[in-house]
Amino acid sequence: MSTSATVGTALARAFAGHFGRDPDGVWQAPGRVNLIGEHTDYNDGLVLPFAIDRATTVAVAARADRTVRMASGFPGAEPAGFDLDAFAPEQAAGWSAYPAGVAWELERAGVAVPGFDLFVTSEVPVGAGLSSSAALECAVALALSDLTGAGLGRADLADIGRRAENNVVGAPTGIMDQSASMLGTRDCAVYLDCRDLTSRPVPLGLEDSGLRCLVIDTKVSHAHASGGYADRRASCVRGAQGMGVAALRDLEAADLPRARRALDDVTFRRVRHIVTENERVARTAELLGTHGPLAIGELLDASHRSMRDDFEISCPELNLAVDTARASGAIGARMTGGGFGGSAIALVPADDVDRARSAVLAAFAARGLRAPDIFTVLPAKGARRL
Ligand code: ADP
Ligand code: MG
Repeated sequence: MSTSATVGTALARAFAGHFGRDPDGVWQAPGRVNLIGEHTDYNDGLVLPFAIDRATTVAVAARADRTVRMASGFPGAEPAGFDLDAFAPEQAAGWSAYPAGVAWELERAGVAVPGFDLFVTSEVPVGAGLSSSAALECAVALALSDLTGAGLGRADLADIGRRAENNVVGAPTGIMDQSASMLGTRDCAVYLDCRDLTSRPVPLGLEDSGLRCLVIDTKVSHAHASGGYADRRASCVRGAQGMGVAALRDLEAADLPRARRALDDVTFRRVRHIVTENERVARTAELLGTHGPLAIGELLDASHRSMRDDFEISCPELNLAVDTARASGAIGARMTGGGFGGSAIALVPADDVDRARSAVLAAFAARGLRAPDIFTVLPAKGARRL
């Protein structure tokens, strides 16, 4: 990875080339990997993601009028613009809905947002399940909060990002991704209770245990705004209603026999995933504290099986990545993110990284599948001004 200073300088130059003036500042927010706790966030549950050492960077300059102009270095992302006074969320489309949504939600939260020029560049692969969307939202949210002197807290800014994604982009995602991007700290995961939004850093100790976190981006694209993600969310609402609780967070393992009798088979399995996943998150955080990361492999494996068989959000490519990594040195592996494609993670002893990488590439090639992108990530700090 290039250093942040280099990225910031190159971006400021790109901004000046595009807009003909210098930016007021440069802000950066990371993507994330979810260690464990999938689809639990919108069920008031527990998650344990970490911010990664790949970030989205924005250069921004305030304007004297109410015009917003946006450009991205991302291939295919056309420049876009709008007038803040004429903005309608239902008209927002394409990549600019993310930054526009953040500006709009900040205004709805009472922040006087001026017009601005924005140029964005990113090291977070787009659509890979590493939340390039939250990285973009959080970088813009922090930039506009700083520029306006609004001084919103990090949890509030995470929520602005979530609302932009829900209300303007139209993706019914929870609070996990933005929380990881805003609250991440070096070498730690973020243990977040999505009911009361309390959080604490949990040291991961990967380096001390000789482990690397390998990301396997299957290149199978997911689409959160429609389809499976929204369907799973609806199943969870149905399950909670059928069990007479406010959210699936309110159920525990002892309630599952009753859930099996009360619910149809599919809804029951969706519920079982959420209930057991919450318990795995709590147990993972506990084990990291007492025994370190070498002890959590089985929990990652169990999480993957639960997503594959009960929640049914995995896909053949993710299963192949997970199974192959496990068979070639990983101590635990699971798909990460919303599912239906995207990335898997594997905790691999440093000496086995090359072997695991080659094995996964060979397995994909043998089945005629597109080669995945495989790289290691480090738990990094959250959004900041450069
Ligand atoms: P993920 O969050 O897993 O990467 P999403 O579908 O949620 O996938 O978000 C990806 C979308 O976010 C892209 O299609 C694009 O609209 C927007 N996006 C992310 N990063 C950038 C960027 N650097 N430039 C322009 N748009 C971006
Ligand atoms: Mg996303």
